[in-house]
Amino acid sequence: LNRRLATFGTTIFAEMSALAARTDSINLGQGFPDTDGPEEIREAAVRALRAGHGNQYPPGPGVPELRDAVATHQERFYGLTWSPETEVLVTTGATEAIAASLLALLEPGDEVIAFEPYYDSYAACIAMAGATRVPLPLRAPDFRPDLDELRTLITPRTRLLLLNTPHNPTGTVLTPDELSGIAALAVEHDLLVVTDEVYEHLIFTGAHHPIAALPGMRERTVSISSSGKTFSYTGWKIGWITGDAPLVAAVRAAKQYLTFVSGGPFQYAIAEALALPDAFFTGFREDMRRKRDLLATGLRAAGFRVYEPEGTYFITTDISPFGDEDAYAFCRALPERCGVAAVPNSVFYDDPERGRSQVRFTFCKREDVLQEAAERLARLG
Ligand code: PMP
Ligand code: GLN
Repeated sequence: LNRRLATFGTTIFAEMSALAARTDSINLGQGFPDTDGPEEIREAAVRALRAGHGNQYPPGPGVPELRDAVATHQERFYGLTWSPETEVLVTTGATEAIAASLLALLEPGDEVIAFEPYYDSYAACIAMAGATRVPLPLRAPDFRPDLDELRTLITPRTRLLLLNTPHNPTGTVLTPDELSGIAALAVEHDLLVVTDEVYEHLIFTGAHHPIAALPGMRERTVSISSSGKTFSYTGWKIGWITGDAPLVAAVRAAKQYLTFVSGGPFQYAIAEALALPDAFFTGFREDMRRKRDLLATGLRAAGFRVYEPEGTYFITTDISPFGDEDAYAFCRALPERCGVAAVPNSVFYDDPERGRSQVRFTFCKREDVLQEAAERLARLG
């Protein structure tokens, strides 16, 4: 393994999911639902497969049906208009969108400012691009960005701000004021913005505001989303970016040599999913809200300090009430102790000490599973 990647090892999600499987634990670590998304969307994929739609290499930027659907969805929910031909690119999940965007837009030596704690692929992809990540801390208990602090982190080498709202793992949803403040700094310092919005439909407090809609931002923002979270088909790996044509062309240049194209038949199915009626999106959110409340209640009863998330399907907790153990050790032992797996937030910090007491649980599981997990956690004592 080269020096750029040497420190990254195995992702925490693979490690904790393997531990959960080995110990037959309830896996509240890696974020994937235990119930598949809408049946009709699965049927749409089967129909596409049978009809031979996408069984051979689809077009590099994505099939026209999906590019149209992505553009229509952005207009329907946010009033943003994108040309499906030049301003939408289909990717192999948000994961490839992140990699392709960073590889396309960064020069070696550039600095990227990103929230800390951070989703793990950001750090790895910035490193693969030969750039340097500069963390902007989101500190407990509120996990809000401090815009004065952001200003002090900007240097002549800063090229790009990497945002994530709703934020994994803390659940923070950026407010219109925070977004305006960030946008103003991006314009003032002529920075690019890459924004990961995969949880755009999972917001319990506030609403999703794409930064791309703010003045001066359209020409400098790459927005990323994915079907995995919204439609509960994380295995299909259909994601996308939207942005001004030159930015999308740049990301497309990188994507060509990463995957060339993305999963054909699934693209047709996700095109249908994006056009589902509003009731689907609100129903999904309200279902997740109940699950969040159920797990939060269980975690509190078990003795955890709960940081209530405004969005995503994760709850970050503080484990100090259980003693001074660090989060990684706690998560390694948790399956043996009570048959539940979680993820230590410490791995999402440059200095793991900063996340020493934080553990993340996902609630995208059936209610009976969450109930059972809560009962098991209550035995921790
Ligand atoms: N970004 C964030 C913040 C995520 O939590 C995830 C989770 N999978 C991804 C990107 C990756 O999305 P995908 O599965 O579409 O690659
Ligand atoms: N995004 C999900 C999480 O944060 C899954 C990540 C992954 O499997 N790479 O848990």
